Amino acid sequence: LSDRLSGVFDRLTKQGALSEDDVKTALREVRVALLEADVSLPVARDFIKKVQEAATGQAVTKSVTPGQQVVKIVHDALVDVLTGEGEPGALKIDSPPAPILMVGLQGGGKTTTTAKLAKRLKEKDGKRVLMASLDIYRPAAMDQLAVLGTQVGVDTLPIVKGQKPADIAKRAKQQATMGGYDVYMLDTAGRLHIDEVLMGEVEEVSKIVDPRETLLVVDGLTGQVAVEVAQEFDDKVGISGVVLTRMDGDGRGGAALSMRAVTGKPIKFVGLGEKMDALETFEPDRIAGRILGMGDIVSLVEKAQETIEAEQAERMMKRFAKGQFNMNDLKMQLEQMIKMGGMQGIMGMMPGMKKMAKQAEASGMDDKVLKQQIALIQSMTKRERANPGLLQASRKKRIAAGAGMQVSDLNKLLKMQRQMSDMMKKMGKMGKGKMLKQAMG
Ligand code: GDP
Ligand code: MG
Repeated sequence: LSDRLSGVFDRLTKQGALSEDDVKTALREVRVALLEADVSLPVARDFIKKVQEAATGQAVTKSVTPGQQVVKIVHDALVDVLTGEGEPGALKIDSPPAPILMVGLQGGGKTTTTAKLAKRLKEKDGKRVLMASLDIYRPAAMDQLAVLGTQVGVDTLPIVKGQKPADIAKRAKQQATMGGYDVYMLDTAGRLHIDEVLMGEVEEVSKIVDPRETLLVVDGLTGQVAVEVAQEFDDKVGISGVVLTRMDGDGRGGAALSMRAVTGKPIKFVGLGEKMDALETFEPDRIAGRILGMGDIVSLVEKAQETIEAEQAERMMKRFAKGQFNMNDLKMQLEQMIKMGGMQGIMGMMPGMKKMAKQAEASGMDDKVLKQQIALIQSMTKRERANPGLLQASRKKRIAAGAGMQVSDLNKLLKMQRQMSDMMKKMGKMGKGKMLKQAMG
């Protein structure tokens, strides 16, 4: 895929300007490339539509060619589709013992992934994990998990011959509870194809343990098949996430894209080899980069965009130096703070400020407060925002009520705006904006 796209964008990037026809031609080729990468037709079609919409009317960043801009837009759209809900790689494993059910077809990498994940939970999260194999069909399957367990230092449920999967599941639950485990993982049997018996069995086990996570393990190289398997398992037992294995091969990443677009389930991890540490958190950015194979151009455009933002900031500084700091400016600052992870985030990044960050947290200077302040500003009219001096008692009441807050909250905000305005003016006078720039980073 990346070769093909490179070709397309090479041609684009060599042209000075990009006409609408060029975009269409390029995206037609992107579509073919996606299909070749095993992305399903509706997904590819949707994706192209999305990119076209994003591209249309978007200004081309200065010092970047239109072709480069398109690369960035395609990349961002890929990341967008690939990004699932919640923290990547996060698992719901509170309230011990938390059951994790591993499902999928035979040979997809369930057993390997079970052990890899157990190792990760143990080492990264400090969890006590118990693994149990419910694969009664392949004689070696239970031993395989036991061997891996020894290798990674994770307990496995003792093997009792002749038990049914449901019985083993019950035994695992009991053992996990009595043994004080945080997590117990059930490695189910797979078939070469989905069948009734397999599904019935998984359903039964799922009912018994009520898993906190049901992870589908699928071979990332199987593309469209992987997506069908995911839909089937989700219909029958409900999956909470996906692990794509064999992403170390020359997989084209296409499976990841259709998987996300079709099932909507988060891809939580990717398997990157047979070794026990070859499991990583799924990173949309990385997979998108792999699908496109144009990381250089993407970062180039990002840098150019940062430069533009810096120029805008400079213009703002000049205004501040003249004492022009209104509610719109304050709102922008507050939003910036949230983007940087709130007060805690900003201070946490500065050396020696960790303690202050904790204090800020304790005193309620967190995202919630920032968002409330923004809500107050949003409750003002355009004129009021530009000229906070207008705010008299009745206006204050209206604004506070509009944001569901008290007038005293609004007064605090106004004080903050006045203080910042004064500070900006002073700094501007002292160093003609130089110091201000330093202070604002
Ligand atoms: P199961 O039948 O679903 O339990 O699959 P297994 O866990 O037994 O894995 C089948 C084969 O795939 C084994 O040889 C594994 O070593 C291999 N495998 C599993 N995950 C990966 C992966 O991420 N990359 C590679 N290259 N091989 C893998
Ligand atoms: Mg297995």
